[in-house]
Amino acid sequence: MSRTVYVNGDYLPEEEAKVSVFDRGFLMADGVYEVTSVLGGKLIDFAGHCKRLARSLAELDMTNPHSDDDWLAIHRELVARNGIDDGMVYLQVTRGNPGDRDFAFPPADLPPTVVLFTQAKPGLADNPMAQTGMRVISIPDIRWGRRDIKTVQLLYPSMGKMMAKKAGVDDSWFVEDGLVTEGTSNNAYIVKGNKIITRALSNDILHGITRAAVLRFAAEAQMEVEERSFTIDEAKTADEAFISSASAFVMPVVEIDGAAIGTGKVGHVVPRLREIYLDEMRKAAV
Ligand code: PLP
Repeated sequence: MSRTVYVNGDYLPEEEAKVSVFDRGFLMADGVYEVTSVLGGKLIDFAGHCKRLARSLAELDMTNPHSDDDWLAIHRELVARNGIDDGMVYLQVTRGNPGDRDFAFPPADLPPTVVLFTQAKPGLADNPMAQTGMRVISIPDIRWGRRDIKTVQLLYPSMGKMMAKKAGVDDSWFVEDGLVTEGTSNNAYIVKGNKIITRALSNDILHGITRAAVLRFAAEAQMEVEERSFTIDEAKTADEAFISSASAFVMPVVEIDGAAIGTGKVGHVVPRLREIYLDEMRKAAV
């Protein structure tokens, strides 16, 4: 059955959902996005995604086309129309269609292009990888310098996923100046004893919505949180490691560049964090 897709105010069958070849998102990757998980038909951490969307748009001098309430209504309508129980809502806002190609930004009053669609992922929170853990390789971080803005420039992260695939593992961690920045589409952490270590927020990494929640829950659960950079060598000698993202939640990492982390099996801290995260987020879902 065809999905219903939202395009600039209309709910359309996906075959009819179209944007212009002159759209700045298509020609210049001039757009931002958000991905919000849906569990049990409800949106996870919706307020967090709205806040980051507003920030990404503001950093690129783009006007937010909707209020948070409007965004919520559109998300809910799409979830209902597509009968999503578990899955994701993808949202993209581009600088619009100026009718031609030009490096200069079009006038600020050009309407943006707004597209949202759903992805059904039955059993999203029961991913078997949470039991086995994932394996990663490290690759150089050659992305641009404003990784804090959630833009649709995802070519290098895609290449990073392909490098991982080619190496027979699950994902890549980016390394810059000898220090881990983040994963291709997630934030990266190590665990030492009762302490969770993850890179501090800056323009070097995306300010993960899941990261913020995980660090809050970790502190509430009397775990120590240290926001600082770490090397691949330090990660290899950590007790546990994990990643976080809106669609993977909290996912253990058991191997980096062929070296087992801790016992090489999923430990105790990460599954506990995952459970707390999912429990709390399901409770607060809208
Ligand atoms: N870092 C990068 C580069 C990402 O692409 C993502 C998610 O897409 C994240 C981190 C995790 O962010 P969030 O928890 O908001 O999904």
